[in-house]
Amino acid sequence: MNDKTRCPGCQVAPGHAHEDTCAHARCPACGEQALTDDCDTDQPALWHGVDQRAEVARALNWWTTAPGVDHLVEDYTRVLFAIAYDQIAWEPQAQRYVIGQIDEAMLDRVAGR
Ligand SMILES: [Zn+2]
Ligand SMILES: [Zn+2]
Repeated sequence: MNDKTRCPGCQVAPGHAHEDTCAHARCPACGEQALTDDCDTDQPALWHGVDQRAEVARALNWWTTAPGVDHLVEDYTRVLFAIAYDQIAWEPQAQRYVIGQIDEAMLDRVAGR
């Protein structure tokens, strides 16, 4: 097992549930950060080997710069906008996002680019 695929928060291996206190755990019901979320669910929050939002950004080739980082990073802000405008949907069964109809021009507008 490649250690890079373990959760950066609780070090769990892909396919396993995060620890309850892990900041990287996503609510199984809605995809929000599980720690700050109050959905009532019995499902354990699973780690897939990559953050679900990073997975979306990589699939759509959405990259941005970050202060103090000398390489491009996943553009989470754009992912959040796409979620807010229903262009990406959380799939509770898979505990992953499903990419729908992406309107890049609209996302550029709401992101102020
Ligand atoms: Zn974790
Ligand atoms: Zn939730």
